[in-house]
Amino acid sequence: MRHKDCIFCQIVHKEANAFYIHQDDLVTAFMDIHPINPGHVLVIPNVHTPDLAGLEAACGARIFTVGQRIAAALRGSELRADGVNFLLADGAAAGQEVFHLHLHVLARYEGDGFGFRRSGQIQREKQDLEGIAGMLRSVLE
Ligand code: AMP
Ligand code: ZN
Repeated sequence: MRHKDCIFCQIVHKEANAFYIHQDDLVTAFMDIHPINPGHVLVIPNVHTPDLAGLEAACGARIFTVGQRIAAALRGSELRADGVNFLLADGAAAGQEVFHLHLHVLARYEGDGFGFRRSGQIQREKQDLEGIAGMLRSVLE
């Protein structure tokens, strides 16, 4: 249910300070403590869940629904966001630093300079799309 020493479990159980946006039976949403832009919210499962593989489908659906409502609030409130990103890092290689899964709901503003960057050339044309699609289909089926 919860993990000893997990800061996000402590936030769910109101044992650590946070600027709360929303809480229900499945998820909690609060302000990211190091915001990239004005209006940077995290939506997390109430149950300690390190990664996507362990996320209950109903909880995933709620995370998305709450994220969608927060996105509308970022645009519709006085923040007047020009756009919104959903970002979810699953695994250290994807940039995950806190291993209690979380969806970043990030307000974006024209010209804010935020973006994914990759060093080196991306060789899109050399990727075997057919082969990769086949591998994925065989696991999904
Ligand atoms: P990630 O790289 O996706 O794991 O991002 C972790 C995010 O959690 C970062 O944006 C941190 O600023 C944020 N964070 C870490 N500790 C706290 C905290 N106590 N309260 C709010 N946000 C936090
Ligand atoms: Zn946790």
